[in-house]
Amino acid sequence: MKSSRQLTSDVVAKGFDTIHTTHLKLRTAELRTQIRFVVAIDGVTIDLQKMNDLLYRLYGKFLLLISCSLVMSCSENEQSYNHQLHIVATTGMIGDAIKNIVKDSADVVTLMGPGVDPHLYKATRGDSKKLNEADVIFYNGLHLEGKMTEVFKKLSKLKSVYAVSDSINQSKLIADPRFPTGVDPHIWFDVRLWIEAVQYISEVLQKKDTIHATYYQQNTHTYLQQLDSLHTAVKAAIQKIPKAQRVLVTAHDAFGYFGNAYDIEVRGLQGVSTVSEFGLKDVVDLVEFIIDRNIKAIFVETSVPAKPLKAVIEGCKKRGYRVVIGGNLYSDAMGEAATLGGTYIGMVCSNVQTITNALE
Ligand SMILES: [Zn+2]
Repeated sequence: MKSSRQLTSDVVAKGFDTIHTTHLKLRTAELRTQIRFVVAIDGVTIDLQKMNDLLYRLYGKFLLLISCSLVMSCSENEQSYNHQLHIVATTGMIGDAIKNIVKDSADVVTLMGPGVDPHLYKATRGDSKKLNEADVIFYNGLHLEGKMTEVFKKLSKLKSVYAVSDSINQSKLIADPRFPTGVDPHIWFDVRLWIEAVQYISEVLQKKDTIHATYYQQNTHTYLQQLDSLHTAVKAAIQKIPKAQRVLVTAHDAFGYFGNAYDIEVRGLQGVSTVSEFGLKDVVDLVEFIIDRNIKAIFVETSVPAKPLKAVIEGCKKRGYRVVIGGNLYSDAMGEAATLGGTYIGMVCSNVQTITNALE
């Protein structure tokens, strides 16, 4: 049931002035198909058309706008929710963005926990249940969740499924022929692009959950301000590394967007997906690159095995060159909940701290 207070907030969310609605009581008559509101004003029950007429006569055009906004907000959605919205996200980064938007007003489930590699991840039986129960599903797209692409394709015919990468303008994506879609999927490492993704997620949720739309809008505003500050801070921190030392060598090419946005050269052993094989030649080439560029540290990723990079360090050693592991970076997964890497902002900060400590 929508309270008059919630009604008012719906209207305010749509840019109207706060309007006197204290004695206007609405209840949702039918939720699933054609949504109709039955309105009781001073104990008289009327239908929507009659309500329009009556409101107009009683209060003039402003309250007519209220009823219009109600019709709009319902027709925009396939469903209206009389329960907490169940939202499922694939990666921790997407789940964290959603939690920052909805706080405790919706139920948010993240399928891929700390250290989980989305390129290799397969949906479990438990995941299928969570996906079936979801009102809205968000995934990264651009084939990041390679093994789940078919699942989302099928589900999108039945329910609301959104790829957050759809919000990014094609011209801002990094082309990479090594990936099935021809595009690098690691969009979250350019904080400016992630801001666009968060805005997109928020817009979807505001339409899906009109009761909380204003609240989501306010939370999004606050979170985007934090992301904006994060972008500025990352840029300043990376700039402090002398240009010649500004080279980020990792296990797989997850940092292409990071490199573009913050002016640091990136090089991965394994390509943009951990699915792709790497061979002896890749190790030899990377060893050559490290020695040639006089690189002092390379980085392990929390969601990718460290062994291949150890082969690179060994290769350098055999050539009489010392390179060390500069630390662990969060690439395709966030850290444990109680750690710095347990949020998107925290994972980016932790990475920048690790990179600057090792390379400066
Ligand atoms: Zn990756």
